[in-house]
Amino acid sequence: MTDLIKQWIKEDIRSLSAYHVPDPGDMIKLDAMENPYLWPESMRQEWQSQLAEIPMNRYPDPSASILTSTIEQVMGVPEGMQSILGNGSDELIQIICMALAKPDSVVMAPEPTFVMYQMIARFTNMEYQGIPLDENFQLDMPAMIKAIETYWPSVIFLAYPNNPTGNLFSEQDVRNIIEMAPGLVVVDEAYHAFAGHSFMPMLSEYNNLVVMRTVSKMGLAGLRLGMLSGPSEWINEFDKVRLPYNINVLTQFSAKFALDHDDILKQQTDQICVDRAVLQEALSSFENIIQYPSAANFILFKVKDMNSEAIFEALKQSGILIKRLADTSGPLVNCLRVTVGAAEENQAFIDCLRKILL
Ligand SMILES: *Cc1c(COP(=O)(O)O)cnc(C)c1O
Repeated sequence: MTDLIKQWIKEDIRSLSAYHVPDPGDMIKLDAMENPYLWPESMRQEWQSQLAEIPMNRYPDPSASILTSTIEQVMGVPEGMQSILGNGSDELIQIICMALAKPDSVVMAPEPTFVMYQMIARFTNMEYQGIPLDENFQLDMPAMIKAIETYWPSVIFLAYPNNPTGNLFSEQDVRNIIEMAPGLVVVDEAYHAFAGHSFMPMLSEYNNLVVMRTVSKMGLAGLRLGMLSGPSEWINEFDKVRLPYNINVLTQFSAKFALDHDDILKQQTDQICVDRAVLQEALSSFENIIQYPSAANFILFKVKDMNSEAIFEALKQSGILIKRLADTSGPLVNCLRVTVGAAEENQAFIDCLRKILL
C-alpha cells in the first residue's frame, strides 16, 4: 500500500501534514475568528419557515444571480465591476490559482500570512514565494520590490488586515505593489467588517486588482461563502474554472436572507469592535505580554520570559481554546492569537490568563 501511495501521490502532497482543526468540545472557542453571536429568535424563526419551502430536488441557480447582486450591494462593489462567489473564500483562492497556474508561475505573499495561499499554490503546482514582513509586520518594500523583479509573480496575495498579525498594511505600500506587479494582486479583505479601510472603492483605478471578501468572519462561518470582485475580464476567466453549482441552494437562500438583515450583522460586528478595545485594554495590564495592533476580530500577542505553549495548554485545561502560533519559527515565536468573543468569554480568558501569569 505505502508503495502505491509513494508511486502515485505527488511528493508535494505526501510531505504535507493535514490542516489540523482541534475538536473544541464544549470549550470557550476563541481560536477561529468566529462571531460568537446567533441571530435573534424572531429572525431565526422567519429563516426556518422560509427554508422549509426550498426545492431541494432542484439544482441551484448556477450563477447565484440573486445572491450575487445582493452581496454586491451590501459590500459596496463599484459600478462596472463584476463578482463571483465561492464556497468560502478558500475556494476562490483555489480558483484563482487554477486559472493562473502555468508551468513555473509564482504565487507571492508577505509572511507570516494566511497559510492557504501557500497550500493552494502547492496543490495547483505553482511555486510559492513568501517574503518576510518587517519587524512591525508592515510590508518590507525593498524586499517586496526585489522579489517582484526576481520572481515576476503571476499573483500576489495581500491579506488586509493580515492574518495572523491583525494589522493593516500601509495603503501607499499596497498601491505601489499593485502598480509594479506584473500580474494580478488579490487584496483579501476577510476582516473588512472590523477594519474600517478597504480597497473595494479603488477597484476601478487598476486593471490588475481584485478584492476578496467572505461572510465567515461577519458571523456566517457555517455557510461557507466568499466573493471575489474586480474587472470583468479577470472575473470572466475565473468563472470558467468555477464548478457550476458551487453555491448550494441552502447557502444561496440563507446568505441572501442574512444580508437582507445586514443591520443585525452590523450590530454584532460593531459590538465585537467595542469588545476588542476592552480586551486590548485588559491585555495591556500584563507586564509580560506584548500585543500587536489589530484591525480584525482577533489579537496577536507575545509572551515574554514564558513559554507560550505552556500558556496555551493551561488555558485549554481551563476550557479556553485560543490559537498557538509558536510552532512557526521566526517573528511569531512565543506568539498566541485570541479571537474577540462575547464580553463574558473575553473576561473568562483574561481571568484565566491572570491566574496563569501571576
Ligand atoms: C479566514 C480567512 C479566510 C477564509 O475565509 P473562508 O471564506 O471562511 O474560506 C480567507 N482569508 C483570510 C486572510 C482569512 O483569515
